[in-house]
Amino acid sequence: MGFEDRIRKVVPYVPGEQPKAANVIKLNTNESPYPPSPKVKEALQELDADRLRLYPDPAASELVNAIAEYYGLSEKEVFVGVGSDDVLAMCFMTFFNSEDPILFPDITYSFYDVWADLLRIPYRQLPLDENFDIRPEDYTGRNGGVIFPNPNAPTGALLPLEQIRQIARANQDSIVIIDEAYIDFGGESALPLIHEFKNVVVTQTFSKSRNLAGLRIGCAMADEKLIKYLNDVKYSFNSYTMNMPAIKAGAAAIRDRAYFESCTAKIRATRERATKMLRDLGFELRDSSANFVFATHPQVDAKEIFDYLKSKNIFVRWWGKPRINRYLRITIGTDREMEALGEALKSFLKEKGLFEA
Ligand SMILES: *Cc1c(COP(=O)(O)O)cnc(C)c1O
Repeated sequence: MGFEDRIRKVVPYVPGEQPKAANVIKLNTNESPYPPSPKVKEALQELDADRLRLYPDPAASELVNAIAEYYGLSEKEVFVGVGSDDVLAMCFMTFFNSEDPILFPDITYSFYDVWADLLRIPYRQLPLDENFDIRPEDYTGRNGGVIFPNPNAPTGALLPLEQIRQIARANQDSIVIIDEAYIDFGGESALPLIHEFKNVVVTQTFSKSRNLAGLRIGCAMADEKLIKYLNDVKYSFNSYTMNMPAIKAGAAAIRDRAYFESCTAKIRATRERATKMLRDLGFELRDSSANFVFATHPQVDAKEIFDYLKSKNIFVRWWGKPRINRYLRITIGTDREMEALGEALKSFLKEKGLFEA
């Protein structure tokens, strides 16, 4: 036996590409096409760099209080982390600690199985139905916990609040986590459920609807007892996850509700136009509740479209995985970016003899 046998080896999550070139149309990682609130820039400019010699507030109180105030919660019901990836990793470590398998959909955020493998948490992936919808009735029986995104990724499908309530009700002996990375683009948040059920955790991120992927801020909201357990694990791992600029700028971002509402409204409007445009080009896609669409073309290989678009400096996402290898996930950019996408797809389909006009 050598040292190799004593090392933890994992198959890592693979994030979408961050191309270095400037002139690309980036529709592959669900970032916002719009800049952060002007209040974020002000907050960063006001930050005195000399203060960086000090450790930041380990409780990130300014940010926690701003989030609590925004949602009308107690600050004891809010936990923050370095993006919701950090928050979710902490949640896996804290809440999924049993011999029973945790449950999540077969087609979903591809970080869940990576964390489960990393932390040696047993899991079962439950198949979505033929329309790529979650079947709430599958999420019953003994389990070590439940997690799913709502809207789901990469499908964009929204589960109505009543069905989430049904899942929460059926799983009172384990923790149910609802990953709301995309809820601000058109769904009803499950946040009220944290007061109905002591075992429900809702996570959100500043990366998509608050235009701050580069700052790395996410949060979890739940009954204060669960938040206490999360903080106990966090403080056993790294006390200072949130740096000073993130605390300041994040608080400024969440206070600017009007700017947030105008950006998410623009993205929803562009999404409706892009959905119609793609359907007119022969793509099949469901109405999305997120800031992306999940589209397939019945006559063309998705990988071929993906490669063609990349050659035109348009980046979208494709997974060569079973069940979804004919699909592309396309982030909603600006109207101009979506028009450029439409033109590129039109040329491609014309070459194939699949589009006239
Ligand atoms: C983007 C995303 C996250 C994580 O985003 P962060 O940038 O780490 O906050 C979590 N869950 C889902 C489903 C996502 O799509």
